[in-house]
Amino acid sequence: MICQSCQKAVPDGTAVCPYCQAQLNASNPFSSPTQVPQANFAKQPANNPNQGDATGGVIPYKNPKALIAYYLGIGSGLPMIGLPIGIAAFILGVLGLRDRKQNPVIKGSVHAWIGIGCGGLFTLLWGGLLLALILGVAFG
Ligand SMILES: [Zn+2]
Repeated sequence: MICQSCQKAVPDGTAVCPYCQAQLNASNPFSSPTQVPQANFAKQPANNPNQGDATGGVIPYKNPKALIAYYLGIGSGLPMIGLPIGIAAFILGVLGLRDRKQNPVIKGSVHAWIGIGCGGLFTLLWGGLLLALILGVAFG
């Protein structure tokens, strides 16, 4: 059949023209009452402010603890000053994960885990080096 709106050939029985989105009621008039609510339903996710929000993206803006834990976790790789940064990253990561559990919509579990992982790892590394240094000085 031919779309009355854009004159392109579309498969018979198509409710909505795939080229111009015009309602194709002529050949199938009984389908139109059910097509209208479906078309409205399909539009809803795009118009819904809760969908496609920044929180649905890569960066968990609404979970600042997890986000800060992530950056501190990376910063904890700095020699020696990374020790307190790593401890902070670990704690913030745990807090961020707890917030994420209480309110899953804020997301951030990946960032929180990176903070916990990197922060914990570098805390052990720098802490171990510092301990070795202290022991080395003490017992020379
Ligand atoms: Zn058309």
